[in-house]
Amino acid sequence: MQLTLPVHRAARISPTKTAVIYGERRISWAGFADRVARLAGVLADLGIGPGDRVAMLSHSSDRYLEFFFATLWAGGIAVPVSTRYALPETQFLMEDCGASVLLVGDEFQEMARAIKASVPTLRHLIHAGDGPLPADMIDYEPALQRRPPTEDLRRSGEDVALLFYTGGTTGRSKGVMLTHANCMANAFASIAHTGLGANLIGLHAGPLYHAAAGSRVFINTILGATHVVIPRFSVIAMLEAIHTHRVTATSMVPTMMTMVLNEPRLNEFDLSSLTFVGYGGAPMPVATLAALIERLPNIRFTQAYGMTELSPACTYLEHADHSLDPAKVHRLASAGRAAYGCDIRVVDENDRDVPTGQIGEIIVAGPLVMKGYWQQPEMTAEALRGGYMHTGDAGYLDADGYVYVSDRIKDMIVTGGENVYSIEVENALIAHPALREVAVIGIPHAKWGEAVHAVVTLKAGATATAEELIAHCRTLIAPFKCPSSIEFRDSLPLSQANKILKTELRKPYWDGRGRGVN
Ligand code: ATP
Ligand code: MG
Repeated sequence: MQLTLPVHRAARISPTKTAVIYGERRISWAGFADRVARLAGVLADLGIGPGDRVAMLSHSSDRYLEFFFATLWAGGIAVPVSTRYALPETQFLMEDCGASVLLVGDEFQEMARAIKASVPTLRHLIHAGDGPLPADMIDYEPALQRRPPTEDLRRSGEDVALLFYTGGTTGRSKGVMLTHANCMANAFASIAHTGLGANLIGLHAGPLYHAAAGSRVFINTILGATHVVIPRFSVIAMLEAIHTHRVTATSMVPTMMTMVLNEPRLNEFDLSSLTFVGYGGAPMPVATLAALIERLPNIRFTQAYGMTELSPACTYLEHADHSLDPAKVHRLASAGRAAYGCDIRVVDENDRDVPTGQIGEIIVAGPLVMKGYWQQPEMTAEALRGGYMHTGDAGYLDADGYVYVSDRIKDMIVTGGENVYSIEVENALIAHPALREVAVIGIPHAKWGEAVHAVVTLKAGATATAEELIAHCRTLIAPFKCPSSIEFRDSLPLSQANKILKTELRKPYWDGRGRGVN
């Protein structure tokens, strides 16, 4: 299967339409395609050809998007790097992917230099900031202006387009190879399930280095719609961008949605243009979702569940399932149904299907499944055994094909021989009006093996005692599932993708080999 980049169609069909808005800068699709074609030439001159990796270490910007597509245009593989990593983590990623060119944002110059000094495969740094040009970096704009446009390379759907490193929630991040066909399949399914069209003005609220945003880069471009880019997420920056640019759609992880709901200045912004919010990436607390639906009744919410390895969305809970009607409200606990083109099963340890309603591992087949983990053939074979991606997530299917994600298998708590899935406990806790965020983990217990422990933050000005919260849970779930201890904190540790880092919460209790610390 031969594929062309979606930039071509956008430039042909909507040449004068705004492609990207970044602060005061904006560019049309014709202008964007011309710059991508020139920049691809700059990359070719630096030795980038089919299969070569080009990495990006920068906050999100218009240049980030150009560079992303220029890499693909030149036949290369784009490697977005987390801006939240410490030097050793970035060093590991750069060594692992072997990129020879790195795009460098103003804030990351020192880190980029340190990496270039220690990673021999990295040869060129391209300065993509708005600050002064460092002597040891290539000047982005003049390089691009000097270079005539190049021809887009022909590519097969099987060629790798993106190397995304996973969120790092459960440990060291892995490089996930997504092909051009994977990216297209994800975008087509997303467009079909969300109903988004060419009139979209889509804000990238989260960072562009995460697979969720990376997929939306394809979606907005396939539609020939408008990308709105902000350098970094904050609730105010997001609300301001929606207000100023009349944004029609954006996507968030649940922690970002909680921040919106608790933002005291929410009413100061004109959000009337916003008609669509996609969310996913982590469990969505049902009480928070219900509050958002009530507070923002004109917005079509759609949930996606997935992972970097699935390009990334394998289920959608469509807007029609976001109802507060008592007969339908239970659907809010679901992550939705299999994305178009995908098959989802729930299996036991021997990959045998478990009965409807029973919890097992969620496994997925279809055009969204990654090509594999970068240079990890064994890990790839293990994850993709039997032709299905083994998600590592526990969950169940109901009779209508809705998927309910219960927990990460590794996060499941076994207490007195009973399995407790943290999401069920978290949903019970967050229904308490004093709580802002909750995370439930297993901690060592002499008699039961593990005990259910909750770490919570309170809403501004609210108070609650541990006894009160435990009593609240007992009205909603079985006693063995209720937390036996509760810890109050000012904030919860978040991953680079703004997901709650349970590994951090567990550290004081476990020694890293599954043994309790006394
Ligand atoms: P790592 O694999 O490096 O530990 P990660 O799994 O957090 O990191 P991602 O690929 O960003 O990296 O996240 C995928 C995971 O996020 C899924 O396996 C699942 O546990 C969780 N997740 C994603 N979407 C949802 C959702 N809608 N509901 C519940 N959980 C979700
Ligand atoms: Mg994962």
